[in-house]
Amino acid sequence: MKTQPPAFADLALPAPLAEAIAARGYERATAVQAAVAGAEHAGRDLLVSSETGSGKTLAFGIALAEGLLAGHGHGHAEPRALVVTPTRELATQVQGELQWLFARTKVRLGVFTGGTDVRGDLARLRPGVDLVVGTPGRLVDLLKRRSLRLDAVRTVVLDEADEMLDMGFREDLETLLAARPAAADGTGCRTLMFSATLPEPILALAARYQRDAVRIDARARHAAGGAAGHQDITYVAHLVAMGEKLPALVNVLRRHRGVRAIVFGTTRDGVAELHQELVNRGFRAVVLSGDRAQSERTRALAALRAGEADLLVATNVAARGLDLPELDLVVHADLPLNAEALTHRSGRTGRAGRKGTSVLLATLAERRKAERLLGAARVAFTWTAAPSARDIARAAEDELSRELSEAARRSEAPEAGDARELAARLGADVGRDALLVALLERELARLPAGEPLAEVDLRARPTTAKAGPRPSRGDFSRGAALFEINLGKGQKAEPGWLLPLICRRGGVTRHEVGAIRVGPQSSQFEISGEAAADFALAAGQSDPRAPHVRIRRLDADVRGAHRPSGADVRSDGHGAWRPPARRPQPAPRKAGSRRPPRHR
Ligand code: ADP
Ligand code: MG
Repeated sequence: MKTQPPAFADLALPAPLAEAIAARGYERATAVQAAVAGAEHAGRDLLVSSETGSGKTLAFGIALAEGLLAGHGHGHAEPRALVVTPTRELATQVQGELQWLFARTKVRLGVFTGGTDVRGDLARLRPGVDLVVGTPGRLVDLLKRRSLRLDAVRTVVLDEADEMLDMGFREDLETLLAARPAAADGTGCRTLMFSATLPEPILALAARYQRDAVRIDARARHAAGGAAGHQDITYVAHLVAMGEKLPALVNVLRRHRGVRAIVFGTTRDGVAELHQELVNRGFRAVVLSGDRAQSERTRALAALRAGEADLLVATNVAARGLDLPELDLVVHADLPLNAEALTHRSGRTGRAGRKGTSVLLATLAERRKAERLLGAARVAFTWTAAPSARDIARAAEDELSRELSEAARRSEAPEAGDARELAARLGADVGRDALLVALLERELARLPAGEPLAEVDLRARPTTAKAGPRPSRGDFSRGAALFEINLGKGQKAEPGWLLPLICRRGGVTRHEVGAIRVGPQSSQFEISGEAAADFALAAGQSDPRAPHVRIRRLDADVRGAHRPSGADVRSDGHGAWRPPARRPQPAPRKAGSRRPPRHR
């Protein structure tokens, strides 16, 4: 582990870049920059993982220079470098960063993203562009029109590669990679892949399109020797009652008054609704999700950067890779899909030694899933209740007391004469105490109030995370409990749709659900013994969205005796059904595609 990253002056960069970096005021390279730009990896393909905010853009910018500057001015009309990013915002941001870096060179930079008229792109490509930045869909479009040619490209960068695969861009990426110049003629193209996480699909893509790649892992927790995530992030886990995500979120934000925060949701509809609710309550919130108009997204980011807004509500996808202002608070309004996403989202705060807080909101039904996530991310935590309306009121009172005490001290100055006279007059009229109480009531009424929250029982079971993930298969060897749901053939119930409902309602995975028997007016199903107590607790809560659906426990142990059997039994245990769809929080909304629009 390097103790101190090198100064840029020691990196032997091309002069125009070194000057631009010095002019920008950057002195030391970040770890990932040192690794990517270091002489030991020159010319090699790289597979790089490193945290958000670690300066990857400048890292690959420096790496692009070799291919860009070498043959420059020798009549090359075709692009010599290509950077592919998942979203338009990220493409614009990368453009901004590369623009100043190459400002002292003759490199011509072009950005090509979906959501714009393609004719503009064609016009800009005609005179020649050296460095192309764009989103996969539009780049493939231009390639197919033969307006974009990649035959002279010396370096390809895939930024946020994992996100691009998650967004369904695999085919487009493969098309682009296949259009690189062949490696055989010695002028072969260098391929640099940047990815926050390295799941199997990324490794497969790398194996197929990279040659003898160097894997660089500059993620902080690795540098720190595998210790828990980020040292400067405090994790808070709030257990909230069913249907109370929004009021709990509001209270969390009220409790952290005046800080800059990002609220993550899973679906576009979900973040749109959260954003609206927050704006309605007077928060200075902006929203970022894939379905927003370009102008709106640009405005949202500008407002945030200018400090006109202090709250960003976003999907993971929309926020990925964006260089946001320093944030003090990250709230997971929807549970992240996995531990990597949890770490990645949380890494939005606690940067550069500052302290940050990452708050996870989970309903009773999500509790087990949340515990698994936090366990897999090796985060130590204890379940707590979200701040109550009373907590918020107390905090407001404290704040007001502090402010008033300070003001009272100042008012001893001679300039406060008018107010003192008024105080004396009114005090004589109505009494000083009554006057003071009336004034305080008025002030308190002006402070934002918290939302009422139902009480949740935090002690229902042990509340500390187990180290490491739990086994994914339910353990039916320790018996199973039998439950009944009041939906049967009369309600067109089938195991296929009962299963996700059961999972969602009770916070279990499909592996923990055993046989399901559909009866005439109700159905019976098994829950693995290990999960049964939690399930009973979660499923016993009424769900405001489906108040008529009731689940009750029939028997503590059905080993042998009461196992459901008969025609509609789901006996495979797993495999036949898709995993339960995530339920958007906090209120009912239409189901929609979670994928952002493809930028063509
Ligand atoms: P990443 O892609 O890893 O998330 P970015 O490339 O967006 O990170 O960089 C985050 C911010 O850090 C940018 O504002 C960038 O200009 C700045 N930055 C990059 N490298 C350095 C450096 N060596 N010193 C200071 N700031 C830097
Ligand atoms: Mg980046």
